[in-house]
Amino acid sequence: MITQPIVLMYHGIVAPQTPMPRKRETGADLYDVTTENFHAQLGWLKEHLYRAITIRKNLDVFSTKEVILTFDDGEMNNCTVALPLLKEFGFIGHFFLIAKRIGKDGYMGWDQIRQLNAEGMIIGSHGFSHEILTNLLDTQIQEELSASKKHLERNLGVPVESISIPRGFCNEKIIRMASEAGYRYIFVSEKPDGVVPAPSGAGTNCFSRVAVKSNWTIDRFAQALDGKAPFKEMVLGSCKNGVKKVLGGSVYDWIRRMMLKMK
Ligand SMILES: [Zn+2]
Repeated sequence: MITQPIVLMYHGIVAPQTPMPRKRETGADLYDVTTENFHAQLGWLKEHLYRAITIRKNLDVFSTKEVILTFDDGEMNNCTVALPLLKEFGFIGHFFLIAKRIGKDGYMGWDQIRQLNAEGMIIGSHGFSHEILTNLLDTQIQEELSASKKHLERNLGVPVESISIPRGFCNEKIIRMASEAGYRYIFVSEKPDGVVPAPSGAGTNCFSRVAVKSNWTIDRFAQALDGKAPFKEMVLGSCKNGVKKVLGGSVYDWIRRMMLKMK
């Protein structure tokens, strides 16, 4: 049973000459999508009559031809490369920003973020510092959630109602705290066990997302939209999530960095 629209998670959209941020997490390039592939993916959506909807829509009622496009981290290429392509196809994107990195080398500054907002794109939080929230004390989690929201709202003058949880580590407590901090739309990598789409009465919706990877062919993209991920990838994905749960955020992150270095 489908309980939410398909939500795609992008990071960097890169052209050959695009300057990249110096400060990036190890392995971030696994999620870089080339301009060419991004163009082909948006073209595929258009051709197959998909509409990119926004969180402003009533999300209890949606069709299988509706998709939500999200972009994490707020890299400069989101404005210089992704925005013009979204406009070309008439699609709306949701951009989740790391408050602390706004205006830093390779990341969007307020001018670019205001431009996105003026073009009808949705601006959301991606935490204050991109820290893995499940590693932090409750007071620190609260600060990450609230300070980033206030920082964006103060500088943009619009309500910030959505957040994407940094680095994919999430649990029910984080969802509850995000809801208490005033977020109505919470985007995660995959739904934490036992979390229902809308914690009852709180008016908060929690969405899982499909991460678009740099090596995806257009056929792989089409499979993701049809909900038919190749079996091997599903098994690997669920193993990875199991490891994440058993080891916790920081150990998992360390092992991942080591493995990427060995490649
Ligand atoms: Zn991120």
